[in-house]
Amino acid sequence: MISMNNNYHIFNGWIVNEHQVFKGGLVIRNGLIETVYHGDRSLDDKDLIALDAGHKWILPGVIDDHVHFREPGLTHKGDIASESRAAVAGGITSFMDMPNTLPPTLTQAQLEEKFQLATQKSLANYSFYLGASNSNLDEVLKTDPRRVCGIKIFLGSSTGNMMLDDLQTLRTIFARSPVLIAVHCEDEWTIQKNEAICREVYGEDPPASVHPKIRNHEVCLLSSSFAVRLAREYNTRLHILHLSTAEEAELLDDSSPLEQKRITGEVCVHHLWFSEADYARLGNRIKWNPAVKTESDRIALFEALLQDQIDIVATDHAPHTLEEKNRNYFNSPSGAPFVQHALVAMLEFYHQGKISLEKIVQKMCHNPAILYRIEKRGFICEGYWADVVLVNPDDPWTVDPSNLLYKCGWSPMEGQQFHARITHTFVNGYLVHERGQIYDSMNGQRLTFKR
Ligand SMILES: [Zn+2]
Repeated sequence: MISMNNNYHIFNGWIVNEHQVFKGGLVIRNGLIETVYHGDRSLDDKDLIALDAGHKWILPGVIDDHVHFREPGLTHKGDIASESRAAVAGGITSFMDMPNTLPPTLTQAQLEEKFQLATQKSLANYSFYLGASNSNLDEVLKTDPRRVCGIKIFLGSSTGNMMLDDLQTLRTIFARSPVLIAVHCEDEWTIQKNEAICREVYGEDPPASVHPKIRNHEVCLLSSSFAVRLAREYNTRLHILHLSTAEEAELLDDSSPLEQKRITGEVCVHHLWFSEADYARLGNRIKWNPAVKTESDRIALFEALLQDQIDIVATDHAPHTLEEKNRNYFNSPSGAPFVQHALVAMLEFYHQGKISLEKIVQKMCHNPAILYRIEKRGFICEGYWADVVLVNPDDPWTVDPSNLLYKCGWSPMEGQQFHARITHTFVNGYLVHERGQIYDSMNGQRLTFKR
């Protein structure tokens, strides 16, 4: 169904929005949500394409604050065009991309080049983080908070080696950053120490199951508690990425409304889905930084999400080729693709009775919009951009290489059956995805922020 007209009347659905699920419909006109209504309504308007939702769920598009789309420089793993297609097929209509590309994004000019690439290639809406290093303080301080999602700091090495370990620079950035600081927290010195011990025991070819022993609880807690201390000292707007341990969740405040929090936290779908037992089956395919840890960590993270200590769910989508992942442990890069499967994985938890639909929408759609103060997105709300997803709750399908849209062509979720299927994705009122088919006639927009 391709049309020049992008005005729609979507009716007969179950709208999930702002802690409610209700029978209703909506009108999309000129890219915006014009009307949201309860119940049934017949509209005699020739300007509108009538779309019967057939009792499907109607959700706001997911906002993923943590992806690595690998462009520029690492495009053999993925690129903005390929990965944004996978994202919209997975119900993600906006993404924020990390700076550890080649070259890394360390200047305002490099940052604007990425925005230019996305303008030409991205099917979803986008923003990009500026990286902070030991030597680009001037560039960090020039960041426009209304047009850039945040600053990213790696407090431990991962893909790209953009570590910031000069304490004075770090203090200055925490004190003066004009925009939210997102941190990757793992203590480098402890990682090195654990790696040396591991080499003594296993030599150069250990099993992937050593990963949570090298990048263990201590590695995470040392670094994230340091970041929290520093943020409290300077009243920094700090966002801790990919929490992976029970102890770290305890660092976060569950009593304040999200709008007032100065320190917020993210959990990634893979840390809610996998645990230590899965290394035997999946090996380096589930090698992530921070590592997937114990079953009790997994359960505690889920609980912290439900209790609002953890504010949002993201993907940390980080594709590598299968050839790269199949190298031995020390040479296999960390990260895996996830944008196509994050929402359906969370909906599978709903199917298992572990989380409500309203909570999933809060953590994946509303809260990223609130946390980053994104303008006019993240809700099914009149006057907002029409980023909308239709989901059939019960249309089982299985993840298989033939239905993957990732450029790298593999997924740690292969073989998994999901009950829910994303049937339609609208970005700014344009239908960009319908049942696995991608329509790429219209690109996404740059996110803007009310700051
Ligand atoms: Zn990441």
